[in-house]
Amino acid sequence: MGSMFDSVAIDATTASGPIKILVIGGSYGGLSAALNLQDLCRGLAPRCGPAPEKGTEQGEPKPEKPTSKIAIEITIIDERDGFYHLIGSPLALADEPYAAKAWVKYADIPALANNNITVLQGTVHSITPRTKTATLISRDPTGQTSTQTRVLAYDYLVAATGLRRVWPVVPQSLSRKQYMLEAGNHIRACAGAKHGVVVVGGGAVGIEMTAELKTVMPHVAITLVHSRDKLLSAEPLDDETQDTALRLVREAGVEVRLSCRLDRTEEIVDEDGDKCLRLWFAGGESMVGDHVVMAVSRSVPSTSYLPREVLDEAGYVKIQASLAFPVSDVPNAADHFAIGDLVRWSGIKRCGGAMHMGYCAANNIYQLIRQRRDGTTPVWAELAEIPPMIGLAVGKKAVAYWPQAGTTSGEDVMKAFFGDDLGFTICWNHLGLGGDRKVATA
Ligand SMILES: Cc1cc2nc3c(=O)[nH]c(=O)nc-3n(C[C@H](O)[C@H](O)[C@H](O)COP(=O)(O)OP(=O)(O)OC[C@H]3O[C@@H](n4cnc5c(N)ncnc54)[C@H](O)[C@@H]3O)c2cc1C
Repeated sequence: MGSMFDSVAIDATTASGPIKILVIGGSYGGLSAALNLQDLCRGLAPRCGPAPEKGTEQGEPKPEKPTSKIAIEITIIDERDGFYHLIGSPLALADEPYAAKAWVKYADIPALANNNITVLQGTVHSITPRTKTATLISRDPTGQTSTQTRVLAYDYLVAATGLRRVWPVVPQSLSRKQYMLEAGNHIRACAGAKHGVVVVGGGAVGIEMTAELKTVMPHVAITLVHSRDKLLSAEPLDDETQDTALRLVREAGVEVRLSCRLDRTEEIVDEDGDKCLRLWFAGGESMVGDHVVMAVSRSVPSTSYLPREVLDEAGYVKIQASLAFPVSDVPNAADHFAIGDLVRWSGIKRCGGAMHMGYCAANNIYQLIRQRRDGTTPVWAELAEIPPMIGLAVGKKAVAYWPQAGTTSGEDVMKAFFGDDLGFTICWNHLGLGGDRKVATA
């Protein structure tokens, strides 16, 4: 039987030359790992590292100042042709100018230009930890898969491929051009919904989506339907946070129906002869709408390319506190790291967590390189237990919960957590995507 692939190109092995780092997934976690590692190997303080203590040099990392420069080559592989600000998705799918801002092609990210980071567009199909190779199915510039595969050799690997999320939780397009069409079609369908839009699922995504739609399209009736008697019912959050989210989403002008389970939808014709939908709920109630958006979470880890031994039953990577693969489960486990949404760890999945894990993995790879090259004693960055924390944008206000502050809400919380562009500038600046950093002269 012939191979499913046309040809296989094997890249040079890593026996000599710069140390090769392969980062799979170029979102918050993957970009953080790549850029922090690049900082460390250039003798700079890692951009997402701990804040400097008073009296120390600006940006000085703890526990060790990187003094030695190391030649590395970082390859980031992503299915998309750019960084998509996922947090902004509810607004990107309501407002076209914001949609244009929320997806930046990798080629247009200044921090990735003119340095030792290469971004390839494609899907990683499998990795072989024993040989330290990854098989990539390439994509052409329009985002179409090809049957061309490449085998890439690496010294260290970072898996940062997050969760697979369904439409319209996230756009499914893989190129910016296609994504603008996808978002535009959705926005026009919602804006023209004379009987309104019904969003099913009162988790974080459904709440944010309805509030953004209502804020951008105040003329459209927006309804949020949830099967339980509290919003955010699947999250480990207290009543106060759940009740505040309900208050804010209602204040934003969204009609909320709790304890309401969608049974079926039926296409009908209204009094003007226009097609619309009747939504039937368990219990016999019904309502009319034009557009139904399913925001029920069905996200699964995008880890099918990883060895089964490192995954739990649900497909999450069983990391150690150092973010390395579990020892003894696969060969070379210590040189393989997993970060971001795809790891099995405590806490609600958050982009701040993904960026922090990216920094930790970068530090730990740097420590391993130094140990092997210079005989230094590694100082690991380890993940602590993460308590439930959340920041939720609800129209012009936000609700937040974290253990020290409890539940807070209001426009000031929105400003602090999301700035005025649903966190785009905060994340862009935290990752330092706007420009290259100066190489230390010391
Ligand atoms: C609608 C929505 C709103 C959110 N709001 C917030 C918020 O307000 N605050 C907050 O902290 N968090 C929020 N989150 C959660 C946050 O977005 C995630 O925690 C974060 O995106 C995780 O980052 P990541 O880098 O681990 O993975 P992801 O962002 O999921 O990125 C994974 C990347 O890997 C790529 N990829 C996947 N599989 C492959 C493969 N096999 N080969 C190559 N590439 C692959 C994908 O294209 C993608 O670019 C929100 C999530 C959603 C869906």
